Amino acid sequence: MLGLEQPRSVLVTGGAGYIGAHVCRALDASGYLPVAYDNLSHGHAWAVRWGPLEIGDLMDGARLEAVMRLYRPQAVIHLAGLIAAGDSVVDPTRYYHNNLAATLTLLDTMRTCGIHHLVFSSSAGVYGEPDQIPIPEHHPHRPVNPYGATKAMVERILVDFSTAYGFKSVALRYFNAVGAAPNGDIGEAHPNETHLVPLVLDVAAGLRPFAEIFGGDFPTTDGTCIRDYVHVCDLADAHILALSHLDRDVRTRAFNLGSETGASVRQVIDMAIKVTGRPIAIRMRPRRPGDPAMLVADASLAKEVLGWCPGFATLEQQIATAWDWHERYRTIDVRRAALSP
Ligand code: UDP
Repeated sequence: MLGLEQPRSVLVTGGAGYIGAHVCRALDASGYLPVAYDNLSHGHAWAVRWGPLEIGDLMDGARLEAVMRLYRPQAVIHLAGLIAAGDSVVDPTRYYHNNLAATLTLLDTMRTCGIHHLVFSSSAGVYGEPDQIPIPEHHPHRPVNPYGATKAMVERILVDFSTAYGFKSVALRYFNAVGAAPNGDIGEAHPNETHLVPLVLDVAAGLRPFAEIFGGDFPTTDGTCIRDYVHVCDLADAHILALSHLDRDVRTRAFNLGSETGASVRQVIDMAIKVTGRPIAIRMRPRRPGDPAMLVADASLAKEVLGWCPGFATLEQQIATAWDWHERYRTIDVRRAALSP
């Protein structure tokens, strides 16, 4: 019917999570209907605001199939999975089940339903301890923790599915996602936070007594780990570009997504002190297992091929949007309750 065209739907696994919710927001802004598929083990129903929420587990092929048949998505953006590199060393079986086995269920269900386009949330964790900085996509995969290993394995599976079954996929290798939607729509709210920036902002907000620095003896200028922090809205935009790429290119490809600048843990804390205007106490701790010293992206391929153009390139902008969100969100009683012993 004229004027009543349905928006094209995209299934977003992990759509109630931090990056997933920002991806749903970007999909909506680009005229797609984002259908969030999430078991709410880490995500939040309140974060699903731009399309329907279908509660389900990735391991549940029957439920997945029912949702795919209901919405007939043109593509799947697959973000669901466990994300803490340090935890993955301690409890690898959870990572292999949730990130690897579950992804195979997803891919098989996509085949059953005739859906062949996938954008996969991969990670800089595939590289391990890199031979060169910045890291190009062709750098060998030598993950140093099970989390990175699962991402590298799924990327390999996608290549095989492309060859054998005509799948088309784009793997987006995120470096360190930070920040929040600048209008305060949505932001980071992991139930058991392990990531540096939100933890440091908790200290600035008086919700935790001190920030921990995992390792002061790395071969970096100040001895702390260097990471490439990239704004979550810039990551979200790359997914929209990846969908268009799938429409026009036949190859299965991987792209780094980073701001191409490294910041040490100490530099992040110093910037958080500057942005918040609050003191942040620190405690030195031993190295966290499975942490490479330095990860910085060469993101030129994403810029050239996808036309990716990050808008929040500086750490100051990234932490400022995270702090705005943090200030709004921490006033919610739920968060205070969740953090109290
Ligand atoms: N980190 C830290 N203290 C924390 C959390 C993280 O020193 O409380 C360090 C961590 O060792 C890594 C960097 O901060 O070098 C970023 O860690 P995060 O967990 O945020 O992301 P990851 O790099 O593991 O994906």
